[in-house]
Amino acid sequence: MAHVNENYLKLPGNYLFATIAKKVEAFSKAHPEANIIRLGIGDVTRPLAPAIIEAMHKAVDEMGKAETFRGYGPEQGYDFLRQAIIDGDYKTRGIDLDIDEVFVGDGAKTDVACIQEIFGSDLKFAVADPVYPVYLDSNVMLGHTGDWNAEKGIYDGVVYLPCTAENGFKAEPPTEDVDIVYLCNPSNPTGTAMSKAELENWVKTAKEKKFIIIYDSAYETYITEPDVPHSIFEIEGAKEVAIELRSYSKCAGFTGTRCSYVVVPKACVGYKADGTAVELNPMWNRRQCTFFNGTPYVIQRAAEAYYSPEGQKQCLADVNYYMENAHIIRDGLVAAGFTVYGATNSPYAWVQTPNGMKSWDFFDLLLEKAHVVTTPGSGFGPHGEGYLRLTAFGTKENTIEAVKRIADLKLFK
Ligand code: PLP
Repeated sequence: MAHVNENYLKLPGNYLFATIAKKVEAFSKAHPEANIIRLGIGDVTRPLAPAIIEAMHKAVDEMGKAETFRGYGPEQGYDFLRQAIIDGDYKTRGIDLDIDEVFVGDGAKTDVACIQEIFGSDLKFAVADPVYPVYLDSNVMLGHTGDWNAEKGIYDGVVYLPCTAENGFKAEPPTEDVDIVYLCNPSNPTGTAMSKAELENWVKTAKEKKFIIIYDSAYETYITEPDVPHSIFEIEGAKEVAIELRSYSKCAGFTGTRCSYVVVPKACVGYKADGTAVELNPMWNRRQCTFFNGTPYVIQRAAEAYYSPEGQKQCLADVNYYMENAHIIRDGLVAAGFTVYGATNSPYAWVQTPNGMKSWDFFDLLLEKAHVVTTPGSGFGPHGEGYLRLTAFGTKENTIEAVKRIADLKLFK
């Protein structure tokens, strides 16, 4: 008899974005004339940069000739990309990395969901609340949580770190013992970002309490404030306690192209049950060599082109385009009377619902009255209740129109 992994059955059935899609479909069937603007799901809309397309074409041609054809590549990624990552993302910020500390992947979702595999099966972890759902769900699937508590909207056995207006939506280190903590900076969904001093405190606490920080900096390119680090390795000593993940999805429009990387410093250690320290770098290397056969050559050449002078210029122009949208959302909604967080170092605006309305009620109201799709904050965790997330990844015209429609509802009179 094939026993199933019953941990999967702990996951509540309705996935956030599937519920949203159902609601939008029903509304649009009932109102086919409505021009719906989608500021919900965090997917980019700008096409790939010309420098990236050019590199892909060239790589495709190479694959068509016997002399330049590539079969299986190195599981860790080609050195040309690993070196470009070190030179482009780290050396420029005064961070030294060895090439074998960088592992190229096919998307940060995969990397962040799988990194837990190198830790013990009795793993205890902490997440921010609200949070990018993959950290949580992937751990549920591997049995690192208790049951879903429907009443509280949380899993038993997980350490939740409340992010509220009072603490500026910044997770604070847990007081109880944990093995790993997922930190997303700048944060999805709240769009807020931790300063250098705040990250220093995290690194200091991680050293004292011997936990590992899984640092997701998928939105690093959107940082505008000088006091917000672009990498956790800007913090002294972080290499001993942190693994960093990055994605090309939001900095270079790779949501459909798929490329990412993980940095596992050689100084970073976990522990055996008897207390002996074990380097995590060879463990992740072993995991990748067994489970993964490398990101496609053409895609790695595309990612390499992101670091060329033209690639940087063109991709930055797209990031600036989205950030202009973020400011349109933030400033427009503030002018209409809303309280808005984020949207300064991030493409996400975290909007407080009017008059204490529930997230889903406000979602419904905006869909029905303004024909604007958002994401209810409560879908990211119980402390997201009372907020909505709006993304800046639409077109400028749609963003302006959506903000105008919401403002025209005159919810604050
Ligand atoms: N991490 C965070 C915080 C994200 O918001 C996302 C995507 O939205 C990802 C990781 C996944 O990125 P990728 O497209 O590289 O899988």
